[in-house]
Amino acid sequence: MKAQKKENIVRQEIDEKKYNELLDDLLSVCRKHLHSVDEDLIKRAFKVAFEAHKNDYRASGEPYFLHPIAVAKIVAEEISIDDVSVAAALLHDVVEDTDISLEFIRKEFGETVAEIVNGVTKIGGIFKGHEINQAENYRKLLLSMVNDLRVILVKFADRLHNMRTLDYVRPEKQRRIARETLEIYAPFANRFGLGKIKWELEDLSFKYLNREAYNELASRVREKREEREKYIQEFIKPIKAKLEEEGLKFEIAGRAKHLYSIYRKMIKRNTTFENIYDLLAIRIIIEDDNPNVCYYVLGIINQMYRPLPDRFKDYIAIPKKNNYQSLHNTVINHDGRMVEIQIRTRKMHEIAERGVAAHWKYKESSFTSDKEMEEWVNWIRDVFENASKDEATKEILASFRMNLYQDEIYVFTPKGDLIRLPAASTPVDFAYAIHSKIGETCIGAKVNGKIVPLNSTLHSGDVVEIITSKNQRPNKNWLQFVKTHKAKNQIRRFLNRQDEEIVNTGKKLWEKKIKKLKLTFSDDDLQRLSNKLHYESVRHFFKAIGLGEIDIDEILKSPKKSSEETEEIEEFDKFANVARRDAGGVVIEGEHKGFVYHYANCCNPIPGDQIIGYVTIGHGITIHRKDCKNLIGLAKKSPERLVPVNWPLKQKSTFIAAISLRGEDNPGILKDLSNSITNYKDTNIHSINIKTDDGFFSGFLTVYVENLEHLNHLITRLKKVKGVYFAERMLSAKTT
Ligand code: MN
Repeated sequence: MKAQKKENIVRQEIDEKKYNELLDDLLSVCRKHLHSVDEDLIKRAFKVAFEAHKNDYRASGEPYFLHPIAVAKIVAEEISIDDVSVAAALLHDVVEDTDISLEFIRKEFGETVAEIVNGVTKIGGIFKGHEINQAENYRKLLLSMVNDLRVILVKFADRLHNMRTLDYVRPEKQRRIARETLEIYAPFANRFGLGKIKWELEDLSFKYLNREAYNELASRVREKREEREKYIQEFIKPIKAKLEEEGLKFEIAGRAKHLYSIYRKMIKRNTTFENIYDLLAIRIIIEDDNPNVCYYVLGIINQMYRPLPDRFKDYIAIPKKNNYQSLHNTVINHDGRMVEIQIRTRKMHEIAERGVAAHWKYKESSFTSDKEMEEWVNWIRDVFENASKDEATKEILASFRMNLYQDEIYVFTPKGDLIRLPAASTPVDFAYAIHSKIGETCIGAKVNGKIVPLNSTLHSGDVVEIITSKNQRPNKNWLQFVKTHKAKNQIRRFLNRQDEEIVNTGKKLWEKKIKKLKLTFSDDDLQRLSNKLHYESVRHFFKAIGLGEIDIDEILKSPKKSSEETEEIEEFDKFANVARRDAGGVVIEGEHKGFVYHYANCCNPIPGDQIIGYVTIGHGITIHRKDCKNLIGLAKKSPERLVPVNWPLKQKSTFIAAISLRGEDNPGILKDLSNSITNYKDTNIHSINIKTDDGFFSGFLTVYVENLEHLNHLITRLKKVKGVYFAERMLSAKTT
């Protein structure tokens, strides 16, 4: 928070004397609160920060350098992490605000300090220009961007000092920062178990966000303070005496109530200031690591005052999520007023106030067994729900290295909504995460204002804008780079849907065609035909038809060639002659008996057909089938020329019929065909005439049948023969 030059602000300078005072003060705080202190490291960091910020001033007119010093002191005194964090705190603003580079920091102070400084710088600007509406995601975003827990802790200290000195910045900025603090940093600090910092951040935010309520509560607390303190001192006296009598070492005091928590309770419970504030609270901190002593003290107090069992909470047996431990007990004083009493050990208290850092301290000084180490590791993990699945090694956690949310990224929509995605996600994943329609029509993306390819990798904190086009469709190639299940599934579903439509179209075309051609294909036939044509499946075959890759006519026509067609006509004529002769010609009754007759070329009647004669002029009688279209036309014109004719009734009650066949050429097909005939009513085959070409066969067989029913039965049987997809009575090659 750097100030622009302002006329009315008096600049202060740091002279050598002041410099040494400040340094000595910081060093003594470090010595007092830290486990071990590399004084040389802190002195060097102090010097570099001083030089770097030499010409910078804060909004208050103070030298800017006082800010990093204050942050370093908070780190040492109130969070009590380690000397490395103190050095990083001193340097936390130099990379962003001065000419000093990260490389320089790395060279001078080593990798760890550089990484913390870099982390603090990186997460500093992440909220700028965004509405905070998904606080939890913001917290995870922060975690996904840092590898070292100390980055977050130094950031808390930085934020705390900025909040403490927020008076000097513009009111809009005050509100923005206060809101960010209240919604992101305070709950976050709570998550880390930093109770004290959380309260202070909340009270300071409250002050800037609702100054009126804050001032009123503050003044009412002030008014009541003296009375309250007197009352508490009176209440404490007998307890103190009793505990001393028991030989216990402890600290007992009234517990300050935080303004923001009073305010929140008033609103939540819809009650008055008095109802909240008059509830007195004291805390007993026992100088003994044995938690049993807490229960012992509880017993003593409950013998002195009547407890309210409903309000008793045992957070020692069942700690809070952030590992907070304490006994909460409420008793009724002799005048009828309720007093809340918290009982805890010093260690529990430290953890309540300093959270993770207290663990750090205890770890360094007393983690001797693997089990203790394990508990610490587990606790760190429990601090964050849904911690990364990757099992971080003990060493990594022990050195504050984190691997949390590293498998996720958090990116912003242009409106500032945060979208959580797996690491290495792309703009297509982002588009699908917003809406499947956006995903399906995304044609390009802007990341942080720059146009990027759809397969670019996104990073935490990116602002992503998707460009759509209503003509765009999901592309098969997208499947190669998308990371989210949602995108993958939606793209696949779209492609399948598209596929399905093509397959259905192909299937319909096929069915229409075979219906028209009177073909029958069983599922097996189709399967074999598809395989024969080198398609993976019937689906693929239909798809090829749907895509227009296959000409159905071409397939169904094969292997017949035009020269063969002529041949077939000749074959038919041959058959017809045999059949007619075998039947003994036709019988013409009545006045035309004995007339010359011949068979009509248009309908080629053969024995078994219903026939009729037509008297021509000069050419005798033409024999037509009764259903011949030509004949129907002629009969209308001159019905008097029709004469009844019949196939002769013979002793031999069979006639020859021909069945036209097409299908696949399987080994044994001839045998299958003939078996299918001869196994039915001992039917005799007159001839079989089959040609094969490229795996297909076509041709016809002639059989002796008793009647049409017999013939139809044979046809049905032939259709069932494996590989046969066409079997019909052969009427004529050129049917009418
Ligand atoms: Mn700062």
